[in-house]
Amino acid sequence: MPSERVLVIEDEARIAQFIERGLIYEGYRVSVARDGQTGLMIARDNPPDLVVLDWMLPGLDGLEVCKRLRAASDVPILMLTAKDDIKDRVTGLDAGADDYLVKPFSVDELMARVRALFRRSVPASRPEILRFADLTLDTGTHRAYRAERPIDLTAKEYELLELFMRNPRQVLTRDVIFDRVWGYDFGGESNIIEVYVRYLRQKTEADGAHRLIHTVRGVGYVLREEE
Ligand code: CA
Repeated sequence: MPSERVLVIEDEARIAQFIERGLIYEGYRVSVARDGQTGLMIARDNPPDLVVLDWMLPGLDGLEVCKRLRAASDVPILMLTAKDDIKDRVTGLDAGADDYLVKPFSVDELMARVRALFRRSVPASRPEILRFADLTLDTGTHRAYRAERPIDLTAKEYELLELFMRNPRQVLTRDVIFDRVWGYDFGGESNIIEVYVRYLRQKTEADGAHRLIHTVRGVGYVLREEE
């Protein structure tokens, strides 16, 4: 049975209770906050292993809470939103959310996302140092470096970079990336991979370092030295 602690930040009592019951049934320990300020206080005093965060909250909204949580830790953040709009999703991802769930959702969908986030955030049992060109990734500490420069990665960015570094010079299709990094079917309409590749490029190409993650048009992406 899992014993990870999940912090649920959701103002609607009915939905908060629905989520809490589902998580408890699966064996998680659950804290519920009904507004962003309270959620941030709980997260600071007793850091959770995962946060389920509603977008529409009174006072501090979910985006702002997400940014503040992200500034303080790498905890996986699953955002709940009624806004089924790609632009809003991208805004949330920019704020540091790891994944999305659009309301209304079933308890099974919620648990699948939670399990996927936990599965992806569990450190490898035997830490390894992965190297490609001047990129280094420590699977124990989740720290990445380009040459000597440290790169801050969110949980999802780390998973994507780890996938590339475990499969250098191999073209990874969008389907493979979805399956390995997100762990479920996105329905094909999402541009989430493009968004995350953009983040990784921004972070790994800072200071003018040359591109290592290349687009293979119509297929996917590849980690390699030359275009
Ligand atoms: Ca709400």
